[in-house]
Amino acid sequence: TPGIRPLIAGNWKMHGTLREAAALAEAVRAGAAASPPAADLLVCPPFPHIHVLAVALLGQGVAVGGQDCHAAAKGAHTGDVSAAMLRDIGASHVILGHSERRADHGEADADVRAKVAAALAAGLVPVVCVGETEAQRLGGEAEAVVRRQLAESLPDGFAGIIAYEPVWAIGTGRTPTEGDIAAIHGTIRDSLAARFGAAGQGMRILYGGSMKPGNAKAILALANVDGGLVGGASLVAADFLAIAASA
Ligand code: PEP
Repeated sequence: TPGIRPLIAGNWKMHGTLREAAALAEAVRAGAAASPPAADLLVCPPFPHIHVLAVALLGQGVAVGGQDCHAAAKGAHTGDVSAAMLRDIGASHVILGHSERRADHGEADADVRAKVAAALAAGLVPVVCVGETEAQRLGGEAEAVVRRQLAESLPDGFAGIIAYEPVWAIGTGRTPTEGDIAAIHGTIRDSLAARFGAAGQGMRILYGGSMKPGNAKAILALANVDGGLVGGASLVAADFLAIAASA
C-alpha cells in the first residue's frame, strides 16, 4: 500500500533452544545489516527466549515480539504472561489470535479482543490474526468470517497490525490464489477504513500462510498486502531474509 512500509514478521512458534534462537537472530541481524531490506523486520520467539534476543537485537533494526499474552495486567493466572511483562523484557509487538491459539486454547474473538486491549494498554503493537478454515472457504464464507473476526477481535481505538492467515494455508504449502489474497485484503482494508477512518487506511495488513522465498515476491506485490507473517520459513535465516528482500 502506498505510504506503508512493509513488515516481515517471523512466528517461530514452539521451536528451538535458546542457543538456536540466538544464532537464528544473529543470522537475521547480520543478513539485514549486510543488505538492508525495504521492510521492517520482527521476530517472535517463544517466551523463554525473548529477553536474551531483545537485548542482543536492541538498536539493530530487528524488533522482537511475543506470540500471545494474557488479557489481565497481573494476577493469579498460573503459567500465563502479561503484556506488561513482555514490554518489560524488551518486546515491542505481540501476535494475538493466531489460529493455533484459537484452536489449541479455545480463544474466541472476545478473548482476543481483551488481549489486544491489554497489549495496547501495555504499549505493545498487537499483530492480530484472522482467517477462515478450509470448510469456510469452500462454503463461500471466507470474507464474512474475516469481517466478523475483525469486528469482534478489535477493540475500539485499535492501533496495530492485521495478519490475514487462512487456516488451511498455515504449514501446508498451500496458498490462496493471488486474486483471492487481493480480494480478501481489500475487504480487510475496507472494514478497517470504515471503522477507524484514516488510521485504518494506514494500518499494515500482512499475509500469512506458507509464505516462502518462491512465492513472496508475487504475494507482497498485491494491493493491500503490507508484509508477511512467516512461520516455517522464518526458522531458516536465509529464507526469512529472502522473503524480506522481496518486499
Ligand atoms: C503462521 O503460523 O503464522 C504461518 C504463517 O505459518 P507458515 O508460514 O508455516 O504457514
